[in-house]
Amino acid sequence: MKVAFFSSKPYDESYFEEYNTGNRHTITYLETRLNPDTAELARNHDAVCAFVNDELHGETLRILHQLGIKLLAMRCAGYNNVDLGVAKELGIKVARVPAYSPAAVAEHAVALILTLNRKTHKAYNRVREGNFSLNRLEGFTLQGKTVGCIGTGKIGTVFCRIMLGFGCRVVAYDKYPNHDLERAGVEYLEQSDLFRTSDIIALNCPLLPDTHHLIREETIKQMKPGVMIINTSRGGLVNTPDALTYLSNHHIGSLGIDVYEQEGSYFFEDFSENVLEDEILMRLISFPNVLITSHQGFFTQEALEEITKTTLANLDMFEDGAPLVNEVR
Ligand code: NAD
Repeated sequence: MKVAFFSSKPYDESYFEEYNTGNRHTITYLETRLNPDTAELARNHDAVCAFVNDELHGETLRILHQLGIKLLAMRCAGYNNVDLGVAKELGIKVARVPAYSPAAVAEHAVALILTLNRKTHKAYNRVREGNFSLNRLEGFTLQGKTVGCIGTGKIGTVFCRIMLGFGCRVVAYDKYPNHDLERAGVEYLEQSDLFRTSDIIALNCPLLPDTHHLIREETIKQMKPGVMIINTSRGGLVNTPDALTYLSNHHIGSLGIDVYEQEGSYFFEDFSENVLEDEILMRLISFPNVLITSHQGFFTQEALEEITKTTLANLDMFEDGAPLVNEVR
């Protein structure tokens, strides 16, 4: 099939070229994001391959439909950026990569916790400058602390198990409790009780209408003073202006985010020679107790390999008329 591959990075191209055996699919790698202004680039292709910050709302989908695109192959698990209703109405099938390395994202959440807590990023810079002082590097011992995990699907499950290994008390909230986790020692609580008792809160649930701004003034007020909040799921789970207010008055002790609600304008790109115009992002960056990474939770060799293989398999299945097992309905 002819595939227009949007938001392409050099690493995407090298993985897809390696696994697209026999060049079964003809892939056009396009660096640009997919949105209504760039959708025309999909002309003369059969399928579109897109990623987390591509804009697959109604307008884009209608243009793709007019161009004859029949399959949208997402190279990610989340599909909150796709208007599934419009895709269905237009007869465009949507496939995704349901799980590529839950451990990669869970481990990144743990990296954010450890870095924020033990300030290894600051220690690294200090020592390089010959500053061996420990002032203001004090952290807390994780063992015995209460870690609250919201969403215990594939990623949340790995995250809970890692935190149990640290000797933490792990509590969780999910509409569908995982009984294996309960047997391993995780306690399911009501969400408000999780907010009230957790020293660290990690978000591992999808962005849906009922999880949009799950972290906002009303819920932050229920949390322990000094709470650490970690979001590796989707930016829209956190109301960032509210988080800034409660970071300023120290109710939130620290914030680690791999995702940001307005990340589409900046993440994955190099703006080091530009002035950032997003004032909220600028303020976040200015806080010493905020750690931001640029949506890299998934970014391991194993995950890239899995994303590539599953996406190519989705293209194969569609072309062969076989059941599209990773179809999003
Ligand atoms: P999953 O579908 O396996 O699990 C999601 C869990 O959240 C499910 O158990 C579901 O019941 C639960 N859930 C749904 N609504 C909830 C609610 N209102 N409150 C609490 N729990 C709720 O998904 P996953 O593979 O574990 O991924 C979780 C999220 O991680 C994805 O939706 C995606 O947004 C994000 N993600 C981020 C990266 C990254 O690179 N940072 C990579 C992959 C996925």
